[in-house]
Amino acid sequence: MLKVLKFGGSSMADATQFAKVKSIVESDESRRVVVVSAAGKRFKDDHKLTDLLYLCHAHLKYGVSCDSVYQMIVDRYTAIRDELHLNVDLESEFAALRRKMDKGISQDELVSRGEYFAAKLMAAYLGFAFLDSELWLKFKLDGSVDQEATYEALRHAAEGRKVVIPGFYGTMPDGSIKTFSRGGSDITGALAAAALDADVYENWTDVSGFLMADPKIVPDPEPIERITYSELRELSYIGAQVLHEGTIFPVREKNIPLNIRNTNQPDHPGTMIRESFEEVEMPGDRFITGIAGKKDFSVITVTKNGMSSELGVLRQMLEVLEKYQVNVEYLPSGIDSVSLVVASDKAQPCLYQMMGDLQKAVKPDSIHVTDNMAIVAAVGRKMAFKPGISGKIFATLGENGINIRMITQGPEELNIIVGVDNKDFASAIRVLYNSFVK
Ligand code: ASP
Repeated sequence: MLKVLKFGGSSMADATQFAKVKSIVESDESRRVVVVSAAGKRFKDDHKLTDLLYLCHAHLKYGVSCDSVYQMIVDRYTAIRDELHLNVDLESEFAALRRKMDKGISQDELVSRGEYFAAKLMAAYLGFAFLDSELWLKFKLDGSVDQEATYEALRHAAEGRKVVIPGFYGTMPDGSIKTFSRGGSDITGALAAAALDADVYENWTDVSGFLMADPKIVPDPEPIERITYSELRELSYIGAQVLHEGTIFPVREKNIPLNIRNTNQPDHPGTMIRESFEEVEMPGDRFITGIAGKKDFSVITVTKNGMSSELGVLRQMLEVLEKYQVNVEYLPSGIDSVSLVVASDKAQPCLYQMMGDLQKAVKPDSIHVTDNMAIVAAVGRKMAFKPGISGKIFATLGENGINIRMITQGPEELNIIVGVDNKDFASAIRVLYNSFVK
């Protein structure tokens, strides 16, 4: 049995958090591979190490002294080392880094040092080997991960060992360091779990799993116990802040379950994500796994008599939007009309040109644009098997005075999506939560 664990910035923030990580790792013999982020915030207005490193690089770039920012970085890691009485020579490492910075260092290399130092310290603290991601995580020239080479190299370097690995970076074919986009240590963890065929990928953070709704909208929402990869994808696409989007693919491909856990509440089971669950349907079971949404969409409705029997109309419309690089998020249609739901910030700058082109291409009877639309999605794998769910959802929203402007449902019946006015966004989410979850 092998568990690959990834600890996020808040789990690495100071010596107290390091101690929690240690007791989590030591409580289970199968927790042998540990991936870490750079130290995060200790309190609300604190700084993340990675932010400080980006700031340092910006100072260097514009020729402004970065001494005070750099000192904050050195102090944070030195304090952790000293409090935990670790025997790690940070002084020479920081001096070497400083010399490199003076000579010229790439942004990616400098910001990757947050994870590098965090992993060095954690390895010493756990008594595990430090395994630099420079040695195994390989990018291709186009910036994507060279999965085959990466997996092969990690298997070679880590199989059967207890290791701590820095997240967030790897190397380009020329040996230079490249980072993922922000939050990318999640991906490093997923790649490590996939390469080593782990039994589970545990992603340790500071919340007890994903919540069923945004806590800024619904007070104290319940955490999601079990969710499938497809449901998670639906929820994160529509706005739920979850993992870095590159995380799912490597573990899903290998059918490795992903467990979101809370370092500050290690006994909480968190959220388990799998391809599917064998479940026994209980009467009165909830059919919603989570609720999410986004504001500020525009709906371009094109109406033309006999449209659905005319060949190629849809293609012509989509080609116009493609020309303006505007992505169509949803496409509800009637017999004589089609609505193109697009993000307002993408559509606004070219709206008039786009309408002109649609006019020319399709020669419609009318084109109509509705702004300030919000999308709310109720996601749940159990919806597909229960009749009458959409009726219940629409009726409940109606009874609570929320006007539904648009309805769509994905072909897999994993979600029901409604369009409402921006002003009804938060109340629509609360009504759905209070009626179907609470
Ligand atoms: N430290 C990096 C960031 O703040 C990567 C990560 O934590 O996942 O974005």
